[in-house]
Amino acid sequence: MGATQQQVQDALSKVATPRGVSLSNAGVLSPITANDGKVFFSINVEATEARAWESVRAAAEAAVRAIPGVEVVMVALTAERKAGAAAAPPQPHRHGHGVQNVAAHRGPPGGASPMAKQAEIPGVAAVIAVASGKGGVGKSTTALNLALGLRDLGLRVGLLDADIYGPSVPRLTGLRGKPQLNDERKMIPLQRFGLSIMSIGFLVEEETAMIWRGPMVMSAVTQMLRDVAWGALDVLVVDMPPGTGDAQLTLAQNVPLKGAIIISTPQDLSLIDARRGLAMFTKVNVPVLGIIENMSYFQCPHCGTQSDIFGHGGARHEAERLGVPFLGEIPLHISIRTTSDSGTPVVESEPKGPYAAIYREIASKVRDQLKATHAAA
Ligand code: ADP
Repeated sequence: MGATQQQVQDALSKVATPRGVSLSNAGVLSPITANDGKVFFSINVEATEARAWESVRAAAEAAVRAIPGVEVVMVALTAERKAGAAAAPPQPHRHGHGVQNVAAHRGPPGGASPMAKQAEIPGVAAVIAVASGKGGVGKSTTALNLALGLRDLGLRVGLLDADIYGPSVPRLTGLRGKPQLNDERKMIPLQRFGLSIMSIGFLVEEETAMIWRGPMVMSAVTQMLRDVAWGALDVLVVDMPPGTGDAQLTLAQNVPLKGAIIISTPQDLSLIDARRGLAMFTKVNVPVLGIIENMSYFQCPHCGTQSDIFGHGGARHEAERLGVPFLGEIPLHISIRTTSDSGTPVVESEPKGPYAAIYREIASKVRDQLKATHAAA
């Protein structure tokens, strides 16, 4: 028996807000979806208040998670620009969400290509990064399903989980255990679903990785790139640590990337972070192959009805505005979560289903973009 909307409302009435009233009385909540132990809703505030409300969002999520019977909680913080606010261009396709007008940063003129100074990885034709401006947007889930989509196109694919702060590939693939060493004392990647997989989670406890600082992150990732016997691969997908701080920038600079893919949800806060991600890659002259909108819309597992609870379409619009390819939309659906979290991602467990088809479609666009950027270079 899952939680009821009333129980959720009651829990939210105990969460304080900067407006001095409880969250349930602040007039900022979207309709609440409470189904079968899964609860989704959003908190809508003005863009200027958004940062101050992040702790309210976290408190709301914790309060709802504490209700007996609740298994999954998804609370989105969406920021709207006041009607008539300056500087925003006309946005005919947006769904009530404001956006800041930030031009894409194309990097310093004449800046050295990082690929020029990085040794390629022997046998690996292309290394691509899957990145996000912040955690929890489904970056790792997308990276793995995308890798499987590329595999379904007949490519030889590897996956490197470089998300040092929260390596999730062991959980998403069900893989455990330490990699063996070959005669050259290189680590042999683990094999699953036809992918060659390496994760920092195979080597150290998750808590150890969490406290690492930038230089340690870098040396761990370099080791996983260079000291692993990857063999012959068409594509190596790197699941990057979320965010756009120094550690990520150093990684983007030091990994011989052929391109980067940015995962965003449709919410404005996530889009602002995605834009930072784009600026980071362009700064180090790594071509952005495109943006993927994850949790694009909510698809009810019972009736299939689509609800745009997070304001679907924001990432497509953003990609158009910034002049980077839009690679596709992935719905928020319970089977994407359950299959990931049980170690058999949806492209593997439901290969004929609609979600596998979406990931394969995105994979073929990624392959085309890789070809196009290669040709341009
Ligand atoms: P990140 O790598 O960005 O931190 P994860 O890939 O670990 O995010 O995803 C966070 C949670 O969201 C996981 O429980 C995952 O199963 C779930 N998730 C990711 N994408 C979707 C989706 N499209 N639909 C439903 N759940 C999703």
